[in-house]
Amino acid sequence: MDINRRIAASVEKLAAELIALRRKLHEHPELAFEEHETAKAVAGFLEKLGIPFRKAVGKTGIVALIDGGKPGPTVGIRADMDALPINEQTGLPFASKVPGKMHACGHDVHTVIALGVAATLAGMKSELRGRVKLIFQPAEETLSGAQAMIADGALEDPKMDVVLGYHNWPAVEAGKVGYNTEAVMSSADAFDITLKGREGHGAHPHMGIDALAAGAYLVAQLQTIVSREVKPLSPAVLTVGEFHAGTARNIIAGAAQLKGIVRTMEAAVSAQIEAAMRRMLEGIKASMRVEYTLDWKRVAPALRNHKPTLERVLRAAREALGAENVVELPEASMGSEDFAWFAERVPAAHVRIGSKIAGLDTAIHRANYDCNEAAIPLGVRVMTRAVLELAEK
Ligand SMILES: [Zn+2]
Ligand SMILES: [Zn+2]
Repeated sequence: MDINRRIAASVEKLAAELIALRRKLHEHPELAFEEHETAKAVAGFLEKLGIPFRKAVGKTGIVALIDGGKPGPTVGIRADMDALPINEQTGLPFASKVPGKMHACGHDVHTVIALGVAATLAGMKSELRGRVKLIFQPAEETLSGAQAMIADGALEDPKMDVVLGYHNWPAVEAGKVGYNTEAVMSSADAFDITLKGREGHGAHPHMGIDALAAGAYLVAQLQTIVSREVKPLSPAVLTVGEFHAGTARNIIAGAAQLKGIVRTMEAAVSAQIEAAMRRMLEGIKASMRVEYTLDWKRVAPALRNHKPTLERVLRAAREALGAENVVELPEASMGSEDFAWFAERVPAAHVRIGSKIAGLDTAIHRANYDCNEAAIPLGVRVMTRAVLELAEK
């Protein structure tokens, strides 16, 4: 029997169990680094299959390994497991039983897709070349789980030659897979600025150094980085979301705090914006006499596909689903995804599994979000086929 039909047959047998497990996870959502019960469910499923795994990688993460025993590459596949602090309002029979927590990003679905891939590959182990590393990651929503797993050795022993990521996507019809050719999701940087002046009476400005006035100029200046310095064809966002200064109408503010985010599609553009921000802070210091501190945090790099890897994944997806069901997405997203930390170190491809429910007006991270469960068997089919394609050499 040809490989796609064998995968489809395995998925057909597994689908009911995977959907039941997804509903169980959905009822018991766990937030970042609290995924103890989810990890237990994953461990139990892997144990039944006889797949060895390592627990507590990045606190609640799990890394499993299927070794075909033949020489070949190590192919990674990563699923995230965490939920969001949202009160579910779907009215589903398997809605969250935990007030204030909800799988509103469909990571319950991602977890069972990876388990389905594990089960299908376990059944084909004798033909598998190389090894398949399954990464069950905590804390994607806080963009911190991937780094925690990497710090705990998730990239080592064995090292991966390629790694695959995926996300359910309600903008794509169920039954289809979507992709971006290169840029997928933006980087996320966070900055904290403090300006320090000198307090004084509002009636005697010459006695103080006004940090509030300096902050106001700074906010305006920062807007010119994207509009006047970054190449217009390179997407970039700089948002100052917080600005705190002053305690009373007649007191010159001695300090100001500004917090914001930067999003780009290229590491070089993030670096350019950080350098420009430092230059403007030096300028404000010279022109308005304030001292400053800048804390710049790299929260997640931009997620970009490794083109040759993506091409092989798309070939596998077209073979599994038919070319008409593999669609290029109109644009990348300025949202972020911490799979990018893996993709920064290992050639990677990331695809979207269509999860639209006809007639339901929703999006991920909304209280009424529901993921089309057809994404589960389809996700297992596509990702299994992609893993086998990449394991070929
Ligand atoms: Zn999310
Ligand atoms: Zn997500």
